[in-house]
Amino acid sequence: MKRNISLIGYMFIVIVIILPVACKNDSDPCSHNGNWTISVFPVETELEIGEETRTCTICGEIENRAMSLATFKTYFYGTWAHDEYPNTGVIIDENEWTWYEGDNTETNDIIEWKPRENDTTDSSIFPFGFLLEGDGVSNTFYINSTKNKINSSPYSEEIFSKNP
Ligand SMILES: [Zn+2]
Repeated sequence: MKRNISLIGYMFIVIVIILPVACKNDSDPCSHNGNWTISVFPVETELEIGEETRTCTICGEIENRAMSLATFKTYFYGTWAHDEYPNTGVIIDENEWTWYEGDNTETNDIIEWKPRENDTTDSSIFPFGFLLEGDGVSNTFYINSTKNKINSSPYSEEIFSKNP
């Protein structure tokens, strides 16, 4: 009797659990999931060579996609808090960047986004970014491959993390 129950239990597993998964994979291919990371950064001499990669968290397939400079630029948009002084940071969008320290803010209009290679010691983590040219003021921001941290210059070693 015990053996029969085990056999029924086994068949239950095959029919109810395993078969639908097998069918699902056949008729409904994985739509892929997971975060894209930058695998190839632009360089100043060839700004459109960027590429992103992700490994699907469901099926494990590795995908690549081209990353235009225009797309790369959007990764800088958002609010970035200083890693050591979370009350302090910078908000960047298409047209301006704003430094904040608590309630104090200083906003600069962006006249031009100038692509910049990072030639400082942290270039392996933050290879590429933009010099934001304002009216008499400018700042450079470089981004990492997972797009969740930027480094600013002239404040070298100043790391900011993206607010979710
Ligand atoms: Zn997949």
